[in-house]
Amino acid sequence: MLIVLDIDLHCHSTCSDGTLQPADLIRRAAARGVDVLALTDHDTLDGLALARDAAQAVGMHFIPGVEISVTWRAQTIHVVGLDIDPSAPQLVEGLHTVRRDRLERAHRMSEALAAVGIPDVLSGALALANNPGLLSRTHFARHLVQRGVVADISQAFQHYLVPGKPGYVPHDWSALNTAVQWICAAGGRAVLAHPGRYNLSAGALDALLVDFRLAGGAAIEVITGSHAVDDYHRFEHIARHYGLFASRGSDFHGPGEGNSDFGELPHLPPSLQPVWHDWEVAG
Ligand code: AMP
Ligand code: MN
Ligand code: MN
Ligand code: MN
Repeated sequence: MLIVLDIDLHCHSTCSDGTLQPADLIRRAAARGVDVLALTDHDTLDGLALARDAAQAVGMHFIPGVEISVTWRAQTIHVVGLDIDPSAPQLVEGLHTVRRDRLERAHRMSEALAAVGIPDVLSGALALANNPGLLSRTHFARHLVQRGVVADISQAFQHYLVPGKPGYVPHDWSALNTAVQWICAAGGRAVLAHPGRYNLSAGALDALLVDFRLAGGAAIEVITGSHAVDDYHRFEHIARHYGLFASRGSDFHGPGEGNSDFGELPHLPPSLQPVWHDWEVAG
């Protein structure tokens, strides 16, 4: 009998904008039937050692990962690195530079929100962040919900935190080819995260995929909690067309948040070559 493993290669802990500590995240994933899990916090490797130990304790296969913030043609794009060496110097130093200006961006976001009558958002967001060096728009969103400014996180983004809205400030992250290089130099595989989320025209998406492949990118997320069902089909075809491996991950941030908890996603379509095709876990 063919047993299809539940392989989830995208999620977040309190080391970035998730709400569960790495060990709790691992235990939740294991309890919900995940067989192989990658922790992919934004721009930090801080949670990987704790997560690896917790995974070992529950007998779950663990893949060290990261989700790197990139600016490509003035757009924010996320690139996941899978099976990376967390001690690789280029990656460690590169991520340090990506994180460096986050707090300064947060100050500017807070000032912008104060200018529309919502003061002191920075201290509120910081109070919700376990890692002040990784203050995210998600912490701002949670604070705006707690404060009753908006009803839920999605409204917080929609009304205040996306381009064109009062709390959004443009920011320069890393360059696409640089981020992919860090991942490759760390022995990892670069995956374009949730391509359906960027609202790119067909031409711009083509340019992004061409640039990503030229930089050494290997895979795209097809089945992700950040995609609608239509995106599953669309990116299944795109993965095949561009000769990219396919990845799958919940993008879980915490219980009751986002679209997908562990153990809920469909499997990858059988027409695709999984990004894990040559890993020991592939079975
Ligand atoms: P940052 O890296 O601080 O700009 O924050 C990016 C994070 O915000 C993403 O990783 C998501 O967790 C979250 N995010 C972005 N857009 C949305 C949205 N429309 N709804 C909910 N969360 C979002
Ligand atoms: Mn996030
Ligand atoms: Mn992302
Ligand atoms: Mn993510």
